[in-house]
Amino acid sequence: MQKILNFIDGEFKAGTGGEFANKFPTTGEIFAEVSAAGKSDVDAAVGAARSALKGPWGRMSVPERVSLLRKLADGINARFDEFLAAEIRDTGKPRSIASHIDIPRGAANFNVFADQILTASTETFEMKTPDGGDALNYALRGPRGVIAVVCPWNLPLLLMTWKVAPALACGNTVVVKPSEETPATATLLGEVMNEVGIPRGVYNVVHGFGPSAAGEFLTSHPDVDGITFTGETGTGEAIMKAAANGVRPVSLELGGKNAGIIFDDADIGATLEGIGRSCFANTGQVCLGTERLYVQRDIYDQVCEGLAQKARSYRMGDPFDQATTMGTVISAEHRDKVISYYDKARASGAQILAGGGVPDIKGYEGGYWVEPTVWTGLDEDHPVVTEEIFGPCTHIRAFDTEEEGIALANNSPYGLATTIWSTNLGTAHRVSKQIEVGITWVNCWFLRDLRTPFGGSKASGIGREGGVHSLEFYSELRNVCIKL
Ligand code: NAD
Repeated sequence: MQKILNFIDGEFKAGTGGEFANKFPTTGEIFAEVSAAGKSDVDAAVGAARSALKGPWGRMSVPERVSLLRKLADGINARFDEFLAAEIRDTGKPRSIASHIDIPRGAANFNVFADQILTASTETFEMKTPDGGDALNYALRGPRGVIAVVCPWNLPLLLMTWKVAPALACGNTVVVKPSEETPATATLLGEVMNEVGIPRGVYNVVHGFGPSAAGEFLTSHPDVDGITFTGETGTGEAIMKAAANGVRPVSLELGGKNAGIIFDDADIGATLEGIGRSCFANTGQVCLGTERLYVQRDIYDQVCEGLAQKARSYRMGDPFDQATTMGTVISAEHRDKVISYYDKARASGAQILAGGGVPDIKGYEGGYWVEPTVWTGLDEDHPVVTEEIFGPCTHIRAFDTEEEGIALANNSPYGLATTIWSTNLGTAHRVSKQIEVGITWVNCWFLRDLRTPFGGSKASGIGREGGVHSLEFYSELRNVCIKL
């Protein structure tokens, strides 16, 4: 049985928090035992990260750090197949997704933030003093210190390096707590860190659960200088409370209940293709995915039929088979959660246009399968329409006017992402401006330029990451004022 260990101060170490099983979601079989970090292990990881700030890492120039970041990207790519297999075993996601998105983007993040830090500038202001003399202000960019990185399971390597890369680019050290569901690629990255010569203690990984375990030990640790988190809104609230002790900054990328708005002048073929991906990709386990769809009445029937067809078109099975287009969800618990919403929809009289249950996948009966599902007919205050399900499902409702479409989309405590589908430029601009979210896509979905601000409004998060916005969170600006 494979053992997955913590990575502390450059070494793989068993933790004092016991062991837990790591399962392959496609079969439900245990394929690894994960060693959980206890409080003393988290102390050791934070201590190692603190010491590393004072070691060679802390003295490195930006070009030296940049060269190491590029080696990390190359190091992941050199072991691409190992990262790919580890990610597929942890998540059950198809090779067609992981080889296209998770691993290449997981590596690319290091190059993106290497470029970013090389061109990062700070402000300079000349001023007059009260006695008519001159003074000069300039800002210095330095690291914040030890950053806690707490990650979810839906895009494990990608979302982790999205935070580790800018943190290291800015000269911080990190302690990563991967999701208990997906510990493998963060651990493998420890090997790459050593291979490319990242000094010990700069990158540490502690495994385990959240409450009263590694996650909470880390986020409540007094020697952590900042916390960056991606996950559920409820967990974000707990982390924000922990961060209040000692007034530590947080960056929170949280949940969503994203709306799609389809206008009757949309290009239907391209829209169904795009909206289909946004509802079902990664078995619906994408924070940016669409779970509420509003369609202008003239094309409502056409979209319902087209999306239901799309839902039925996925091929489920062995994720290592290139022909598989949909995998399982992450765990038995998550399957049960998703299915509980399917049951609630049925019990409330929803019209089920596709799916609605658990498919029978021959040879993989122990896997955590759910059917891609499309409903109509539920009220806007129904839990299926208001709560984040995080499964391959969406509810469709018709609207008549632009104002109504906007009001329906905004009727949510969340504000992460929206997609707008229209060939009318005026409609696209007007609606984009009025939607209360951090990210709006027009006639596309998940088209990412990593320099752009990324994050959520309302209950979907605090702060923006991406490009210079990441540098703002992962660095401390110090103003120097010199009377000349
Ligand atoms: P989660 O909140 O359950 O767990 C995320 C991480 O937090 C895990 O590592 C977990 O162990 C840890 N954790 C849990 N409780 C904790 C606590 N009290 N203290 C410290 N750490 C704790 O989220 P998940 O189920 O892994 O991921 C799915 C969620 O993530 C969805 O809500 C999804 O929308 C969200 N998400 C958001 C984005 C975004 O960019 N906004 C991206 C991906 C996923």
